[in-house]
Amino acid sequence: MINKTIAELSKELHAKKISSVELTQQFLDRIKKLDKNLNSFITLTEDHALADAKKADAQIAKGATTPLTGIPFAHKDIFCTQGIKTSCGSKMLDPYISPYDATVVTRLKDAGTVLLGKTNMDEFAMGSSNENSFYGPVKNPWDLERVPGGSSGGSAAAVAARLTPGATGTDTGGSIRQPAALCGVSGLKPTYGRVSRYGMIAFASSLDQGGPLAKSAEDLAILLNAMAGHDERDSTSVDMAVPDFTATLNDSIRGLRIGLPKEYFDEGLDKNVAIAIQNAIKEYEKLGATIHDIHLPSSALSIPAYYVLAPAECSSNLARFDGVRYGHRCKDPKDLEDLYKRSRSEGFGSEVTRRIMIGTYALSAGYYDAYYLKAQKIRGLIREDFINAFKKVDVIMGPTSPTPAFKLGEKVSDPISMYLSDIYTIAVNLAGLPGMSIPAGFANDLPVGLHLVGNFFEEVRLLNVAHHYQKVTDWHTRSPKGF
Ligand code: GLN
Repeated sequence: MINKTIAELSKELHAKKISSVELTQQFLDRIKKLDKNLNSFITLTEDHALADAKKADAQIAKGATTPLTGIPFAHKDIFCTQGIKTSCGSKMLDPYISPYDATVVTRLKDAGTVLLGKTNMDEFAMGSSNENSFYGPVKNPWDLERVPGGSSGGSAAAVAARLTPGATGTDTGGSIRQPAALCGVSGLKPTYGRVSRYGMIAFASSLDQGGPLAKSAEDLAILLNAMAGHDERDSTSVDMAVPDFTATLNDSIRGLRIGLPKEYFDEGLDKNVAIAIQNAIKEYEKLGATIHDIHLPSSALSIPAYYVLAPAECSSNLARFDGVRYGHRCKDPKDLEDLYKRSRSEGFGSEVTRRIMIGTYALSAGYYDAYYLKAQKIRGLIREDFINAFKKVDVIMGPTSPTPAFKLGEKVSDPISMYLSDIYTIAVNLAGLPGMSIPAGFANDLPVGLHLVGNFFEEVRLLNVAHHYQKVTDWHTRSPKGF
């Protein structure tokens, strides 16, 4: 059962070959046995899960179901869950029990999912390796000495290790796609505005977007059906019709125009990753797609622009954690200033502190034009690049990450080299486009992710294109040894 996709598990549940309680118990047992080595969960919600599963079994008996009824599931610990700790991977929120559910949580609950627990993540979603978590790093199930990617590393590792059939993630600069790539699972970052951010703890609000991680594109479509749609409690959520993302999965992709940006195949790209990606492109040619060289001339500027804009937004978003209204409070403060200073320095880890300092500096009166405004202009150029490219092609493809999973500790003391892990994903957030990563082979026995980028609100096309690849390849069905 544990290797089945959500689509397959749903059939088993509906045919009453297994009950949701039995299925949930299998996953809970696996988490208890195997997660000691991985650290992919921060909180396990066993009682909650079994109660949800009982309810789901009653729904199935009545016939009132959705494709997600009774499916065990996990949420990244950045999504508020009523009555359950929501830590965002930080000491700052370690004691926080949310009084309400995020919209994404409500929607997936209403669709009948069973909550197994909350997954580990980089503190406040800042990181590419999951080493910035207050709860310790997550290990990559393909090689326990390596990182799972980040910041949604707990979700990606848990799906890869078959500890849950699916999980949520968030992606501000690559945090769904890069860990999906490094762990050999499928992940989708929807168009900015497609999925509500209400109850999703903010990092950089103009870039943050929640989305699903699972084994297959078909599962992502099923999950996105439940997650997507307008929410009046998030003013950036877009009020437009949501298609059935599963309905068009099998539509023909003959004549599909694939763009390959020259800039994504330059130096810095691991040779074996490049070979896997070229093989995937050949597979698409066999399926009837045509390949076109394209240019994204401003892409080299995406990392510097992001590392001005994201810290600027985070310095403002994280100002609320002052030890008075929100978050950790230090013991016996001398006065108000001491309370602020010590609560914040005790509550935040070093990467978060670094970003708050950079962001505060970039936004300060004398430097605003030189940094923040300039970065916003670059953001405009990056968006233009994509708009021009999509006049000629339907999807853009390339590697998700320049290298396979790197060793734990390898990049912790070199933030710039860590920041470069998102070199191919960040521009997609700056432009607000949908992007996806799917398993596309191995490099040195470690998973490689194929990155697919679509035009605004074209998740339907991305899922359709990914699904065809998964019908003719089996990379997405592989699981790590020992799990
Ligand atoms: N790795 C990037 C960062 O550290 C992106 C994180 C994310 O997408 N949440 O900011």
